[in-house]
Amino acid sequence: MTDLPGIVITGASGRMGQMLIRTVLESDRARLVGALERLGHEWVGRDIGEAMGGARVGAMVSDDPLELFARAQAVIDFTAPEATVEYAALAAQARAVHVIGTTGFSESHLTKIAAAAHHSTVVRAGNMSLGVNLLMQLTKKVAAALDEDYDIEVIEAHHNRKVDAPSGTAVMLGEAAAEGRGVRLDDVSDRARDGITGARKRGDIGFSVIRGGDIVGEHDVLFAGAGERIVLRHVASDRSVFARGALRAALWGQDKGPGQYDMVDVLGL
Ligand code: NAP
Repeated sequence: MTDLPGIVITGASGRMGQMLIRTVLESDRARLVGALERLGHEWVGRDIGEAMGGARVGAMVSDDPLELFARAQAVIDFTAPEATVEYAALAAQARAVHVIGTTGFSESHLTKIAAAAHHSTVVRAGNMSLGVNLLMQLTKKVAAALDEDYDIEVIEAHHNRKVDAPSGTAVMLGEAAAEGRGVRLDDVSDRARDGITGARKRGDIGFSVIRGGDIVGEHDVLFAGAGERIVLRHVASDRSVFARGALRAALWGQDKGPGQYDMVDVLGL
């Protein structure tokens, strides 16, 4: 039992944090070392299971990342960019695999994560589900097969608590489409339309964002031509798909050297 890779979950009380804790507890391939919350959070110092309103699980919620990371083989982190950047440096010190599901990073955050990945294995993906990673490959293929007579639009929908837009997944799909077309997304991305915008620019990749209710995550990639449309769609109806993907990434990373990887590497797509 104790030979199983030890996992730490950050953002314990978050939507994904709680789903990840359940996923690790249910797994027979990993053990839960502990979970992290911010200094002063009411869960700190409590048994994780009891804090979540269930039975004791024998692992605690802590506010001391380095102490926990030093006892773990992997850290699974779905929090916020500032927290993730801090955890990346500490996971590198502890030589623990850092699985990053957090989205909404700036360039400067990404530079810091890249620096940490010189010392540790980092697996980062804006979407950890098998389906979306397959959708990315399909998007790249379809974009490569069609020319600019087909307008590409990425449409995403999420719950009303999501703080960043467009979603990390939508950006990844836009990047896959741009790669298929042999262009840089930054050069063709059209994110904001309001008022008299003028006609659509040929070759642009557009983004539309819907926020409402408890939508877990929906993504369409639309290729709109004259007289026909192709729509590639992924619908996530349960957060457990992301948690299972993240745990798979943590286990996959155990025998990899330092560096940055994504779910395409993990899934061998
Ligand atoms: P959430 O419910 O708001 O949970 C976020 C957790 O992170 C909370 O426990 C929060 O603690 C903690 N946190 C935030 N800022 C922190 C900081 N500066 N220091 C320490 N802890 C901090 O959000 P969620 O829906 O679980 O999503 C979390 C992240 O995962 C988002 O970036 C989301 O886009 C991403 N996500 C990715 C995937 C994927 O497959 N890659 C799937 C789903 C979600 P407090 O409550 O104390 O603030």
